[in-house]
Amino acid sequence: MVGLYDESMLPEMLPIYYTRLFPQNIFCRWLSCGSSPQPLSNRELSFTLADDVYLRYLSICNQKELQLLLQKKCPHKLDIGAVYNTKPSIGRHDAVVLSRELVFDIDLTDYDEVRTCCQEAKVCEKCWKFMVIACEIIDKTLKEDFGFQSILWVFSGRRGIHCWVSDYEARTLDSPGRAAVADYLCLITGGDNQNKKVNLGSDNLHTSIRRALTVIDKYFDQLLKDQEFLSTTDRLDKMLKMIPDETLRSQVQKSLESMPETSLERWKMFQSVYENYSRESSNNNRKIRYLVEEIKIQYCYPRLDVNVTKGFNHLLKSPFSIHPKTGKVSVVFKPGNAKNMKLDEIPSIYSLLDDSSPDNAQHEANMRVAVKNFQEVVFSLEKAEAIRRRNDANISLEF
Ligand SMILES: [Zn+2]
Repeated sequence: MVGLYDESMLPEMLPIYYTRLFPQNIFCRWLSCGSSPQPLSNRELSFTLADDVYLRYLSICNQKELQLLLQKKCPHKLDIGAVYNTKPSIGRHDAVVLSRELVFDIDLTDYDEVRTCCQEAKVCEKCWKFMVIACEIIDKTLKEDFGFQSILWVFSGRRGIHCWVSDYEARTLDSPGRAAVADYLCLITGGDNQNKKVNLGSDNLHTSIRRALTVIDKYFDQLLKDQEFLSTTDRLDKMLKMIPDETLRSQVQKSLESMPETSLERWKMFQSVYENYSRESSNNNRKIRYLVEEIKIQYCYPRLDVNVTKGFNHLLKSPFSIHPKTGKVSVVFKPGNAKNMKLDEIPSIYSLLDDSSPDNAQHEANMRVAVKNFQEVVFSLEKAEAIRRRNDANISLEF
């Protein structure tokens, strides 16, 4: 049914969507909590209208104002910005950014050099697995290495995912702090001309890298089958170039070229050639101690848009905004459930508002789940904020 819909129907449908389905109440509560101690009105909202007209520095005081603004402007896309020391407006050049969720933007186009099923704007169930891995690794890292708790995962609307961390410590992190978190999650480096983009050194691996590899290992065989990383001469060549040791490289090349083209078989053979070689040249293998791990990471580890994370006032698409090109809702999902998400079951405005659509019931049900997921994160954030405010009040009483 998707073919029957197009962008020209949005002006008619969006007002109904914003009134009936957009979770206005919980959205305002989430933004208020994430803006505290500043009022909700100090938060920048930005709208993209029809024909790419762009409105920045909008703000609201409460849900009623949000509803009025959405009806009046009917944005095709809704973005969220930073919290200022004053109500944001175009004229206020002295406004200072005080806080902002720590955000992550992962987009499948950044995987174009490794994914083989799709390129650019395309996405399918096969390459969605890269997003599943990214989500699991980043979520675990944020919780276990940084101690963050209020983490919201959102489908970007087309081919990626966004993550919003609302913990007070994350919101008030300065630019160098944000850059440090982004760098911590950045293992793949170097541009198009660099063949081997991961270097883990030769010392024992950091816990965070070991944990990432455990996640990757759950999906790696399936990815080899889906993506066929090693099946053609070109792809095999790319992998061989990641082997820094010339003798090993030519041994691997000889063994793999004469094999059937399935990547899973070739990968197993590569591992066994590597293990034999490492055993025989035990005093000389520091450079390739983690070669297998490095290649897995280069294929599968999250590829972040680091500028989005580093920037203090980077605008990011709001949860439950509609993607103007696909009509899909930016649904909130649970990180543990990313692997079960089916792209065609993600609600779209067209099937949500069309009772006769065959996807209507399924999309409505998934929309309810997404709102419930959003509520859960917001309720726990409100609790954490209440505790923080009480602790702050106690500390000030002591003095
Ligand atoms: Zn694909």
